[in-house]
Amino acid sequence: MTDRELINLAIEAANNAYAPYSRFSVGAALECGDGTVITGCNVECAALGGSICAERNALCAAIGKGYRNFKRIAVYADCQDYCVPCGTCRQLLSEFAPNMEVLCVKSGGRYVSYRLYDLLPASFGPDYLNS
Ligand code: ZN
Repeated sequence: MTDRELINLAIEAANNAYAPYSRFSVGAALECGDGTVITGCNVECAALGGSICAERNALCAAIGKGYRNFKRIAVYADCQDYCVPCGTCRQLLSEFAPNMEVLCVKSGGRYVSYRLYDLLPASFGPDYLNS
């Protein structure tokens, strides 16, 4: 799958976002190790702490289907800056794939690519608990 195809899935996912409070719709497309793509959107609730980001929505759906290996994630929002994952999403993604590629997409579909470890350097991870 090309970057553009993955990004298009993230853009489609953003159309399903439930974001009546922030009005900031986000879509994510997570590519698993076998090439399967699982998408997610942000879902807000009136008790804002219960809201979940698109990236974690996609990741949790993938985990629920048994996936544990991930190659890339595309994150899209219709905004002027490249949409990067929040700190909580970086941490949860890093639990499974600290080397994964993160495609951060802005309005019009332009994007930049990072490695997750560059977005979350010196991260706390499973090795701390296993040593
Ligand atoms: Zn997040």
